[in-house]
Amino acid sequence: MRTSQPSMLKHVIEGLDITSVLEKALDGDNLSLREVELLMKSSHSDLIGSVADKIRRRVVGDTVTFVTNQILNYTNVCVVKCNFCAFYRNEGDQDAYALSPEEVVERAYRAWKMYNTRQVLIQGGVNPNFGIEYYESVFRGVKNRTKNLAIHGLSTSEIEFIARKERMSIKEVLMRLKAAGLSSVPGAGGEILVDSVRKKLGRTLSNSEGYLRVMEEAHKLSIPTSVTMMYGHVETPEDRAKHLMTVLDLQKKTGGFMAFIGWNFEPGNTRLEKEGKVRYTAGGADLLKVVAVARITFQGMIRNIQSSWLTVGIPMAQLALNYGANDWGGTIFEEEVIPATGKQVGNLRVQKLVEAVKKIGRPVAERDNFYNIIKTFE
Ligand code: SF4
Repeated sequence: MRTSQPSMLKHVIEGLDITSVLEKALDGDNLSLREVELLMKSSHSDLIGSVADKIRRRVVGDTVTFVTNQILNYTNVCVVKCNFCAFYRNEGDQDAYALSPEEVVERAYRAWKMYNTRQVLIQGGVNPNFGIEYYESVFRGVKNRTKNLAIHGLSTSEIEFIARKERMSIKEVLMRLKAAGLSSVPGAGGEILVDSVRKKLGRTLSNSEGYLRVMEEAHKLSIPTSVTMMYGHVETPEDRAKHLMTVLDLQKKTGGFMAFIGWNFEPGNTRLEKEGKVRYTAGGADLLKVVAVARITFQGMIRNIQSSWLTVGIPMAQLALNYGANDWGGTIFEEEVIPATGKQVGNLRVQKLVEAVKKIGRPVAERDNFYNIIKTFE
């Protein structure tokens, strides 16, 4: 493949040839921003995907991992009111809700008992009534009632808001949350790390710098995190490339990102849809492109790339595993954010997930919150 690319695959933009960029990636070299942009703009997704798949095999092997988890959205009250969000409610709305710490703990306990969950992803709106003691009480309660259940908790917006409300530094907030039981921080709030895009998305809290600051502080305190990218709204291929390169820069500095997760934007019931700015989802081709370019950009620097079944469904997630992804994500019991857009997702039983992976001929294993394998499935 390195020496005899068919000419139909030759794709030149601004003097750069996609085949030479892919050869560089196959050699394990870091790409420049311009080269990542070229891949994002290219129509040769299959070729990019096959290179990403080779890199995936080299850096993490064939095994597809997943975690048995629950997503616990403890409140839908949020003061940020992003244009892309169908989940948030104003305080006083008929369907606004906020769980007490006892209710959150009870729900986490029930899922742990029933499904043997290894991770609870606790995340909600930015509810102005909740200070740090609410979260400490939730985290301590979950840790006391369960065993081996990791708390993957809070978006950067929630963390920044707590710091502002309590007049504390991000570091102090994270230290207190860690002491109360926080295991890791999910990447929520990443969207696209370009402020002009974030402005259009109406993300008034947590600009790019704020997001990266929370992540860096967490990494310095040995709290690993994920990083996300929400695509398919008002961003350009250049913005996507910048996002990946910004993430890579921080990873080179801290090494604290455990995984990358690309989310397909779901416009249903959002302000962006109502205002006619985005009417349809990006679709499967974009998912495959984002997963493949992410793998090529990160190589093994961010080892785990998720297939994002929650927004794209099982068939697309299976395909993404052949485009550079190596992790299925979670079984996701009780998630409430995506259903708010009108899209039905449902919980995924372990057996169904294992069968979906086996059907593409790959070994499958259950992992814990930190990507350690705990059980294989023959
Ligand atoms: S995405 Fe998060 S921060 Fe933005 S409105 Fe929705 S719940 Fe609030």
